[in-house]
Amino acid sequence: MHERCEWKLRTALGETMDEPHSEYDTDETDQVTDVYAEFCLSTIETMRRSSVEPLILIEERLDYSHIAPQGFGTGDLVLVGKDEDGTGLIHVIDFKGGRGVRVEAEMNSQMMLYAAAALNSYGFLVDPEIIRMSIVQPRLDNISTFQMTVEELNAWAESIKPIARMAFEGKGEQHTGDWCIFCKAKPVCRACAEEALSLAREEFLDLDEDVLDSACADTQANGEQVHSTEPVERAEQDSSPEPTDTTAPYILDRDTIVFKSPQLIPIETLASLMPSLTRIDSWIEAVFAFISAEAITHGVTIPGYKIVEGRSRRVFSDEYAAANAAEAAGVTNIYKTEMKSLSEIEKMMGKKRFAEVLGEYVLKPPGKLALVPEDDPRPAADNTLDARGASATDEFDVIE
Ligand code: SF4
Repeated sequence: MHERCEWKLRTALGETMDEPHSEYDTDETDQVTDVYAEFCLSTIETMRRSSVEPLILIEERLDYSHIAPQGFGTGDLVLVGKDEDGTGLIHVIDFKGGRGVRVEAEMNSQMMLYAAAALNSYGFLVDPEIIRMSIVQPRLDNISTFQMTVEELNAWAESIKPIARMAFEGKGEQHTGDWCIFCKAKPVCRACAEEALSLAREEFLDLDEDVLDSACADTQANGEQVHSTEPVERAEQDSSPEPTDTTAPYILDRDTIVFKSPQLIPIETLASLMPSLTRIDSWIEAVFAFISAEAITHGVTIPGYKIVEGRSRRVFSDEYAAANAAEAAGVTNIYKTEMKSLSEIEKMMGKKRFAEVLGEYVLKPPGKLALVPEDDPRPAADNTLDARGASATDEFDVIE
């Protein structure tokens, strides 16, 4: 997707570049990269309004080794020019193709390091007052922009220097947190392993001591299935379950009208475990991915494990020869045709004509629902609506 972003931007700016192709190209990746290219082009247009042509750097290596030893990154787009009011401006824009984690530009250390690198290399050209940073993450409808004065950015960079030096020298302490999610050291990080295992131990102890006892007490007190959303109070009576006589003959009890609950965990307790589970899950996933890659890609022997082949699908070794052979044998019905995708047809017709002719047939169904923490900036979705935006009550007529 980064290559397609680069290609779209360069060709829109009149440069020549071979169109990149990938087995992962889909209509959706095309739309996602369109959003990035459109944002970049409109930002360039805005800077051009200052009547100074900005310096446009695409996929530029940004060296911030003056802050962190050997530190560098690749800026998807760096614009060096003037803001609309004529003051010097550097704008760093970064494309994020992920949909798992929303990335904000505000106080984003990756963006600030890139911005500091751009300031160090190109600041002398425009003497900027403001450094602007934008993250374009189309799959989460997220375009986030943050800006700092040059003084603020320089002060932040100074505060990073000693920390970066200690990290480079293998000193200091490892602090686990949400930032670990993209850390390449995660599968082999001792702090991360200790945290995940101790979280698991603590949570299970909590469950043993508090939750299961109280859930059990509540069940005993009510003698029925608990689906309450209220917190479970610890019952005063003895909470140990009544012993069951497993040798007694089975007699069908037709009088029992409610199902007696096993020791279920209330939904609030599960919800409170979610942040810890997310951290443990992400650590487990990283360890599995790391060990698998070590074994499969680098030939490392993993004690107690071996490499096997997964299931595979049969394919024609030579499709053209196979088609000829089938037709020679009188089997001609071997092809299927299907409608081109919406984006392909729109590209063929042009946006305006597409909207005139086919606009009324375009439907944008709501995205797949996902459970996210309450502080996620996206608005809460109405999960009572169907794909056409209708609620269950809309689907029924009232019968008088
Ligand atoms: S995984 Fe370890 S090294 Fe990486 S950010 Fe987390 S604590 Fe630091």
